[in-house]
Order: sequence, then C-alpha cells, then structure tokens
Amino acid sequence: MTISMKDKVCIVTGGASGIGYGIATRYVQDGAKVAIADLDLEAAKQTAETLNKMGPGAALGVAMDVTSEEQVNEGVQQVVDEWGRVDVLVANAGVQIVHKIENYPFDDWKKLLSIHLDGAFLTSKAVIPHMYKQESGAILFMGSVHSKEASPLKSAYVTAKHGIQGLARALAKEGGPHGVRTNVICPGFVKTPLVEKQIPEQARDLGISEEEVVEKVMLGNTVDTEFTTIEDVAELAWFLAAFPTNAMTGQSMVISHGWYMN
Ligand code: NAD
Repeated sequence: MTISMKDKVCIVTGGASGIGYGIATRYVQDGAKVAIADLDLEAAKQTAETLNKMGPGAALGVAMDVTSEEQVNEGVQQVVDEWGRVDVLVANAGVQIVHKIENYPFDDWKKLLSIHLDGAFLTSKAVIPHMYKQESGAILFMGSVHSKEASPLKSAYVTAKHGIQGLARALAKEGGPHGVRTNVICPGFVKTPLVEKQIPEQARDLGISEEEVVEKVMLGNTVDTEFTTIEDVAELAWFLAAFPTNAMTGQSMVISHGWYMN
C-alpha cells in the first residue's frame, strides 16, 4: 500500500496561519499542490510564496471568506481552473471567542457558528461535485477535543465543534457511494495565535492567573502536561488525506496528549 500525496490537489482553509499552515507545509513536502484559502489574502499569498520555495508551483494563495457562498465558490473554481481537480479539502478556518454564556454577545455567537459550520458546509458543497465527478476525494474537518467535551466560556465553540462531527458523519454516508470520505481531526490545545489570544481572556473571565490557565485549564487533563504541536496535527492530517482507501470514513481522531480518550 503506497501512502503519498504526490500531485494531489488540496485546499486548506485558514491555511495562512497556525495549524492550517502546518498542514499545507506537510502536504507540499510530500509533493502535493495546495491552495491556501484564507480571509487574509496578503497572508495567503505570502504563505504560498514561502511554500513555492519548497516546491515550485506547489502553492496558490486564494481569497476566501468561508462564510460567503460566493467567495467559496469562486475560490474553489480558481483552484479547478488552475489545477483541474480537487482531491483534498481541509476545512480548517476557525476562530475562538470566549465569554460566560450570560455575557456572550449574540452577534459573536452567530459569527463563530457561521465561520465553523457554514464554512464547513459551504466548502464541502463546493468541492463535492468535483470529487463525485472524479469518484474520489478526502474531506477533513478541523474539529477539536471540544467536538467531544465541553469547557466553560466556550458555548459557541463547543456547539460548533460538536456540529462539525454530525456534518462529517452525514457527508461520509452521502459521499461513500461516490468514493468520497470525510473525517474529523480533534486536537487538544496547540500553541497558535488562536490559543495565545485566549490565555489572558480566560484568566480575566475565570479570575485566575495566566499560568493557571495554561497549567490547569489547557493542560490539566493531559497525561503529561504537554501541548499538542502543529506538527503532530499536520502528520495526522497527512495520514488521513494520503491514506489510499476509504476504509476510514465518518471518524473523528483525537490528538490531545490523552486529554480526551475515545
Ligand atoms: P489561527 O488563528 O492560527 O488560524 C486561523 C486561520 O483562519 C487564520 O489564518 C485566519 O485568517 C483564518 N480565518 C479566520 N476566519 C476565516 C474566514 N471567515 N474565512 C477564511 N479564513 C478565516 O488558528 P489555529 O489555532 O491554527 O486554528 C485552526 C483550526 O484549528 C480552527 O478551526 C480551530 O478551531 C482548530 N483548533 C485549534 C486548536 C488550538 O489549540 N489551536 C485546537 C483544536 C482545534
């Protein structure tokens, strides 16, 4: 069984930062072509430029707000026009907004759900016709331990990440007969800008120090008080995308230093 990403055409949303950037890098290292689809077009272009130094012509920066059906469809079409197909979608774009529920602004609730859920729905909907035509494709959603567990201050995020798991299972059933698989990656805490930002915010809302947020809230339930790394998540995303059959579909893989055990 050969496991390889060579010449696979991939779209990574939120690929200009953090976990998405790590996944895109891993894919390019293995010979894939990767579209960095991000809200921040400048960052997407810069990321593509950096990746093109590793593999000339391997990366493309694409403007995409995943909450806009028009931008998603245009971005996916741009990739198909450039490379002729789509083999892998990593619906990874996301944000975190933490508040106690009684203080949670309704607009923030709607914004967070839209980026995670509308984003996963719209990008899947846009790539699926191409994948069905090819009779092959792999869709990966970026879930979280919060697809399985809840934490205080994260009502919207926990709701969204649980929802993503439901969407993945439905797509796995619909896509199976067409050769398309869908799986979810569920990381524990990874030190990215999304996490750095919430350390002081959680300290403020929980009335504890920033050190306590890291030691107790973020790593307190791991088996070894260690952060999961971008490289850890990228390796799993590589395996799930490169695996040559659809034996694994509708699954959610937790990668969290044992914080959550299936
Ligand atoms: P990050 O902030 O480093 O990167 C997020 C990227 O998404 C940015 O490039 C941003 O521009 C982009 N983005 C935001 N809104 C967008 C939109 N509407 N359209 C397109 N792009 C948009 O964050 P990260 O930590 O790398 O998170 C990536 C994913 O991993 C998210 O879905 C997050 O929920 C998930 N996740 C993160 C952690 C963690 O600890 N960092 C843990 C579990 C899951």
